[in-house]
Amino acid sequence: MRYAVVSDLHSNIEALTAVLRTADDLMIDGMFCLGDLVGYGPDPNEVVDLIRTRSGNVVRGNHDHAAVEPGHEAYFNPWGQAAIRWTRKQLTRENLAFLSDLPLSLTVSGVRLVHACPSEPETWRYIMDADDAEDEFDGFGEAVCLFGHSHVPLCAVSAGTDAVLLAGDEVLIESGKRYLINVGSVGQPRDGDPRAAFGVLDLDRGTIRRHRVEYDAAATRDKILAAGLPRFLGDRLLRGQ
Ligand code: ZN
Repeated sequence: MRYAVVSDLHSNIEALTAVLRTADDLMIDGMFCLGDLVGYGPDPNEVVDLIRTRSGNVVRGNHDHAAVEPGHEAYFNPWGQAAIRWTRKQLTRENLAFLSDLPLSLTVSGVRLVHACPSEPETWRYIMDADDAEDEFDGFGEAVCLFGHSHVPLCAVSAGTDAVLLAGDEVLIESGKRYLINVGSVGQPRDGDPRAAFGVLDLDRGTIRRHRVEYDAAATRDKILAAGLPRFLGDRLLRGQ
């Protein structure tokens, strides 16, 4: 069984379409979506519609939460606040209902899925380094937890000792070890690489591989400006930061 892993899509249909094209070429069997389908970008309904048709394994991100819980945007920076208020007005009744029903955490095929952190997903705490990861390994019982939220790829491994970060695009999941893995963001990468990021989890081989995909970020940026959303949200797509 091979799952595409997508996170932080942020209403970027150009990036999501390019990712799904590549994922389909890689013969995936299913998909995990780690939340933040909406917020920041110009096409919230298109992204939610597409994910609804492609994945039954979707967890709630903080932007999805804010879209359906007015007042929660107070936790965002001014650009995020402006975008979530705009997003709330765009979303169809069906897509608002879909986001309202998303769980904070799921376990599928023995893999834990959350948006931010497994120990207390409702706090939206970030996992940015080995110390953050160390605090989270007690927060789930499975061997692998996939998460997003920071928009920066990260893989931490623990063999019951201190968490260690692993480099490289492919991780071999070894028995006796446990993993916290962020494959990066589809719709708003922040690691300096503007290409859309996603992963493929191969449960038969016991691997997870990160991929990057070129897409037309300039087109998404132009749509952000045309929608009257903050210019910064468009410009950052071109830099991947
Ligand atoms: Zn996000």
